[in-house]
Amino acid sequence: MTFDELKNCKYAVIGNPIAHSKSPQMQNAGFEFYGMGSIYGKKFVEKEELAEFVEFARKNLNGFNITVPYKQDIIPFLDEISRSAQMSNSVNTVRIENGRLSGTSTDGVGLATALQVHFNKDVEGLKVVFAGAGGAAQAAAWYFACNGAESIFIANRSLSKAEQLASALKKAFPDLECDICELADGEKLSSFLQRSEVLIQATSLGLKAEDNAPFDFDVLANISGLCVYDLIYKETELLNYCREHGIKHANGSDMLLYQGAASFEFWTGKKAPVEAMRQGLENAL
Ligand code: NDP
Repeated sequence: MTFDELKNCKYAVIGNPIAHSKSPQMQNAGFEFYGMGSIYGKKFVEKEELAEFVEFARKNLNGFNITVPYKQDIIPFLDEISRSAQMSNSVNTVRIENGRLSGTSTDGVGLATALQVHFNKDVEGLKVVFAGAGGAAQAAAWYFACNGAESIFIANRSLSKAEQLASALKKAFPDLECDICELADGEKLSSFLQRSEVLIQATSLGLKAEDNAPFDFDVLANISGLCVYDLIYKETELLNYCREHGIKHANGSDMLLYQGAASFEFWTGKKAPVEAMRQGLENAL
């Protein structure tokens, strides 16, 4: 959308790329439920255009979502930011009131709600393994640590990124059990999984048919009671493996739904019409 087209909207999602985003269909189903019309658009923004977008938003919008790659870049433009967003250095939702911009991250609560709905797991006391340490894993790990998770293990291709995240988490939460390994270190990953209830697949692998497996799925064999949540919105090789081996599993579409529902409530103060938003999302996926 151009800035002129976006003037007909009150909310939007920005990113690069953005064409694939299903947030407009999901959020507009929510706004239409309340008779507010289709007021959520999407805008491709280059990094150099961020400042221009923010000034446009300040004057014309009530809020916006931020997706890859700007969840961190948006922070210097904001007037205030929630504690967990500040800790994870990631903002995916901005509310605008009287020209003031307040940022938060709903990725963590979106994932937590999906784990509750699919596996009946609460974040408090949770023992969890992240495969991946990118933006999504970081936002979720900080949300989990802030909300009483017992242990967080991080397996990542680049060990340095896992190390950075784990040492920041341990500094902020000295009682949290936290350890790291390389994604390819099957022995250590397997020992983390034996001591955990949930594995979160948070690498970007699995979206395309030609993607390699993020790790050797055989590490999942003989681990009783483990639940596997894949952040990718569709069925992946990992989820197929889980189905074939009787492992509880779910794909990332409900995380997307519940983070969107939390954004809707942050903006409007109204209860998100989750079923209408789910329908909007399913029609778009
Ligand atoms: P980032 O780009 O920030 O992180 C990507 C992660 O994938 C890193 O851990 C990276 O490892 C790893 N990775 C990438 N390529 C490879 C590879 N070839 N082998 C091993 N590891 C690899 O992405 P995000 O964290 O933002 O997103 C991750 C996934 O989660 C995406 O697919 C995204 O669509 C999905 N997502 C889903 C959401 C939902 O609502 N369901 C919300 C947000 C994200 P390294 O550090 O070594 O580069």
